[in-house]
Amino acid sequence: MSTRDVSVFGDAITYFNEAADQLELDAGMRQILTHPSRQIIFSIPFQRDTGEFEVYTGYRVQHSFARGPAKGGIRYHPGVTLDEVTALAFWMTWKCAVADLPFGGSKGGVTCDPATLSMNELERITRRYAAELVEVVGPDKDVPAPDVNTTPQIMAWFMDTYSMHVRQNVPGVVTGKPLEIGGSRGRVEATGRGVTICALDQMKRMGMTPEKASVAIQGFGNVGTYAAKLFTERGCKVVGISDITGAYYNAKGIDVEAAIKHAAHHRSLEGFAGGDHISNGDLLVAACDVLVPAALEKVLTSENASKVQAKLIVEGANGPTTPDAARIFKERDIKVIPDIMGNAGGVTVSYFEWAQDRMGYFWKESEVNERLEERLLDNLHEIQAIAESRKITIRVATYMLGIDRVVKALRTRGIYA
Ligand code: NAD
Repeated sequence: MSTRDVSVFGDAITYFNEAADQLELDAGMRQILTHPSRQIIFSIPFQRDTGEFEVYTGYRVQHSFARGPAKGGIRYHPGVTLDEVTALAFWMTWKCAVADLPFGGSKGGVTCDPATLSMNELERITRRYAAELVEVVGPDKDVPAPDVNTTPQIMAWFMDTYSMHVRQNVPGVVTGKPLEIGGSRGRVEATGRGVTICALDQMKRMGMTPEKASVAIQGFGNVGTYAAKLFTERGCKVVGISDITGAYYNAKGIDVEAAIKHAAHHRSLEGFAGGDHISNGDLLVAACDVLVPAALEKVLTSENASKVQAKLIVEGANGPTTPDAARIFKERDIKVIPDIMGNAGGVTVSYFEWAQDRMGYFWKESEVNERLEERLLDNLHEIQAIAESRKITIRVATYMLGIDRVVKALRTRGIYA
């Protein structure tokens, strides 16, 4: 069976079960935790600029409310399915718990290809998507955020639509907004910053010196771009970058600022002259010390895991490693900081944004960044201690920490059955 035949939610459940075994969770609790609270599928009719109508499918899955309102991004991508959104919502529950945020987990999506949509079409789809969810989202219910192909502008349209429907201004209904309407300083960079913070801490533990370390990053969107920029600022050499159009490798180091300018100008890395053009597959197995998959799921599989040359993988994307690949990395003693810790910087600053919106009082960027680093490192150190004392992988230790926090909340509230 190929890795694509196992659903993304299937991968997520495999990881959950490994940690649940360590925690000796009973069968009933496992059932409760592996069933989403609510799955919503709806139609999004919208009008093309040409005047014709089309119908897309929208999703919102709310996995858990045990620790607070659900929290999770919205993805616009042709590959969005109920299975994928459910897996992503499930991961949000553990991620918010690992980051010790007062949130449950959710995720949303629209099956569409934004590359074929004008700004006006994107706005109409977003407003209809938000209008369909008015009853089930809100600062105390479920708080969306950006994910693949969704931007601060899309969050602004979501917030405006919701606010119009409830007849009051509600900035806290969504995070990742532009600064002008209640966004947080530092949110745009937060996920990439979190990847870098986790990577540098783990590198120190492994005796690696940043100035001598090389990094390859798959995906040059929100997460990948800021990770590349911040790795460079911390002295590491970024040797490989990629986006959907292909990958670029330069053993002497990529000029990340030039790549950012190229991508901004051409809307992709296509034609970037600062490195050898290689395939996305080759980038994952290229010579480097640290590998950051920051695009989509299931890119590290049983087919390429034995060829990966990095000593450390920090997952910027959600679900980039299949359980088969994770087993190979364990055998090869390649350390992996999993998505629910590696990319938790984004949701952590989303939490700061939600808190600032509710206070109506906004922090300086330095305050945001300091609080982010402190929170991520406190939790990462707890995870590293669990992994070392139990002699288990960082992934299993991370899931254990997240699941245990959710179980404690559920048991304290009581299960209303
Ligand atoms: P984005 O849309 O800004 O960028 C995605 C990037 O991946 C683009 O450069 C795109 O060209 C590239 N890409 C797409 N398919 C590819 C392929 N087959 N091979 C190589 N590159 C490919 O998205 P993002 O917000 O940066 O999210 C990337 C990943 O990080 C996703 O898994 C997302 O769930 C996760 N994530 C994002 C955030 C956030 O705050 N944005 C937070 C946590 C996790």
